[in-house]
Amino acid sequence: MSTSASPSGHSPAEPIGESAAGPVIERLVEANARYAADFTDPGMDARPVLGVAVVACMDARLDLHSALGLQLGDCHTIRNAGGVVTDDVIRSLTISQRALGTRSVVLIHHTGCGLESLTEEFRQDLEKEVGQRPTWAVESFRDVDQDVRQSMQRVRTSPFLLHTDDIRGFVFDVTTGRLREIDPA
Ligand SMILES: [Zn+2]
Repeated sequence: MSTSASPSGHSPAEPIGESAAGPVIERLVEANARYAADFTDPGMDARPVLGVAVVACMDARLDLHSALGLQLGDCHTIRNAGGVVTDDVIRSLTISQRALGTRSVVLIHHTGCGLESLTEEFRQDLEKEVGQRPTWAVESFRDVDQDVRQSMQRVRTSPFLLHTDDIRGFVFDVTTGRLREIDPA
């Protein structure tokens, strides 16, 4: 999670969501037309080729496929703010394992995560503003290593998953592109 501009992205003068090429979603739709024009049906099954599910933060600086050498069809990617193992992530992992044959789980948090600067006060502020308390926890954290360990633990102890013996957790450094593995102990 970050609101800072990427070095290769838009110029600071451009308002967010706009560019010389027009509104952002229009650009995406146009890009898809070009993509589809060259697309050939890969004839793939929905089951991930590598039998792996990757749970990661939604951070815009983390290109999972490039960073992990993944190709189309290789894996499931499950992303949210923080790469937190929420009930909904367990839902996706359960379907991934029980219906689509994955066995391994990779958890990826990263340096400079937006959740490190939030607190549970975020929820209280929201409640004050909109008159309703969100049902979800913010899941903010201060220690990224500890947060990865907690995520690994949540996966490992889920009663719904078939395979919990091959779970590994990492912190991705957004400045070097390198993964650092977290010892689960
Ligand atoms: Zn993040």
